[in-house]
Amino acid sequence: MKNKSVAIIGAGPAGLTAAYELARKGVSVKVFEAGDSVGGMSRTIPLWGQLVDLGPHRFFSGDPRVNTIWLALLGDEYSMIDRMTRIYYRKVFFDYPLKAMNALKGLGLMEAAHSLLSYLKVRIFPVKDESTFEGWVTNRFGKRLFTIFFKSYSEKLWGISCKELDSDFAAQRIKKLSLFEAVKSAIFGMGGSKHKSLIDEFAFPHLGAGVVYEKMAEKIGQMGGEILLDCPVISIHPAPGADTQPRLELEDGTTHTFDHIISSMPIIDAVEGMGAPDDILAHARQLRFRNTLLVFLRIDGACSFQDQWIYVHSPDLETGRITNFRNWVPDINQGQPDTILCMEYWCYDEDDRWHEDEATLVKMATGEAYRTSLLPIDSVKAGCVVRMPKSYPVYSTGYRGHLGPVERYLAAQENISFIGRNGAFKYNNQDHSMLMGILAAENIADGEHHDLWAINTDYEYQESSEKMAAAISKG
Ligand SMILES: Cc1cc2nc3c(=O)[nH]c(=O)nc-3n(C[C@H](O)[C@H](O)[C@H](O)COP(=O)(O)OP(=O)(O)OC[C@H]3O[C@@H](n4cnc5c(N)ncnc54)[C@H](O)[C@@H]3O)c2cc1C
Repeated sequence: MKNKSVAIIGAGPAGLTAAYELARKGVSVKVFEAGDSVGGMSRTIPLWGQLVDLGPHRFFSGDPRVNTIWLALLGDEYSMIDRMTRIYYRKVFFDYPLKAMNALKGLGLMEAAHSLLSYLKVRIFPVKDESTFEGWVTNRFGKRLFTIFFKSYSEKLWGISCKELDSDFAAQRIKKLSLFEAVKSAIFGMGGSKHKSLIDEFAFPHLGAGVVYEKMAEKIGQMGGEILLDCPVISIHPAPGADTQPRLELEDGTTHTFDHIISSMPIIDAVEGMGAPDDILAHARQLRFRNTLLVFLRIDGACSFQDQWIYVHSPDLETGRITNFRNWVPDINQGQPDTILCMEYWCYDEDDRWHEDEATLVKMATGEAYRTSLLPIDSVKAGCVVRMPKSYPVYSTGYRGHLGPVERYLAAQENISFIGRNGAFKYNNQDHSMLMGILAAENIADGEHHDLWAINTDYEYQESSEKMAAAISKG
């Protein structure tokens, strides 16, 4: 492939990592990005004289290939952060990861006893259907703890009942965690083998998550690669046969031929433009995405709470998470005295909330922020909204029946690879998307045969705090 050309759709972590790796291997790359900056959902933006991410973006990976790239780009310009996060539920703050005494105090003796009984009950009479999120979590934590610590947050995030949510979401994110393991960890610690959900240290670049991708873009340019911003790809035209080349079409109607195309554009947009058979189109249209509304609030001075972010489980508040950028690293505040909070709201395209104007959303978020008692009344000086369409692939029950045929159709396309959170419909973190980019590049440049669809599914994602510390921690 050394003398050949590769087009990459999307300059998020997946697409840029693929471009970076290919350029390093001497392959000619051209990146087409719809937006006006690089980094995708992991970009960092300037706001009120400070820097903010699009919601909390901690970096964590136990994969040496990912960490090597991340470290090579950042050098010394990052810190290891002690995680400080809590759950807010009905006016009570619980430490998260859960700590035994704190949880007991927050729940109260009666509720704690009920929760334990409910856990023991499910150990004796487990829920039969573990294919749903509700069944999967209930069997590991009991019904009462499921309701307090999982149900309301998950239903806010996904906008569907936990009975309609596939257990894949839990299996991927909570993995083998159970009440037993959580309590054991809370009381005894876990040596070096702490569970992924309980990891209490993470890496963060001094100038925000997005600086990694800004640096990556710079290096790609230095190696002769091209990144075209404000340049959305309208459709991909598959290669008509083996040993032929795929093309992509731009807004101005021009088409461009490449030896290989790597796409990280949303899977549905790719399939719609490819002239796929009707049944594949019908399956692809069943794959839903959730949108995120980020309401940023500028608060007068410093807020007293120390958390990097707080999960809002209280059903009476619509927000699901509040991030306080002041509590990450000092540099992102750029010496400014104010605090910037980010309140997250999740919606579907058809929800009224998604279409509300900025002033309405800021007013609503301000009211909710005051109701948490985290900040003094009248301390909000300004607000603004960032809309993130298609920010979460929704693992609703039955989604695998739709994704399977679409995956098989896309995998059969000659010289086209599909990667990334939306591109492959995987609930990826940055590191999963970076890994997909690395492996896609190896397939093309080194003739490897990695199954890109298996990343973040079967791939054993070894995230122990010990490995992470060894890989990335500063001495
Ligand atoms: C609120 C929130 C919090 C998160 N927190 C974390 C966290 O703590 N840690 C973590 O590691 N990850 C976190 N993530 C996930 C992280 O943002 C993603 O995993 C990562 O950005 C995915 O990278 P990607 O390249 O696959 O996709 P994206 O980041 O979505 O990049 C895709 C790019 O493709 C472009 N594109 C789309 N269509 C076209 C087209 N037709 N033509 C050209 N370009 C196109 C888009 O503009 C975008 O730039 C979070 C995500 C959200 C929404």
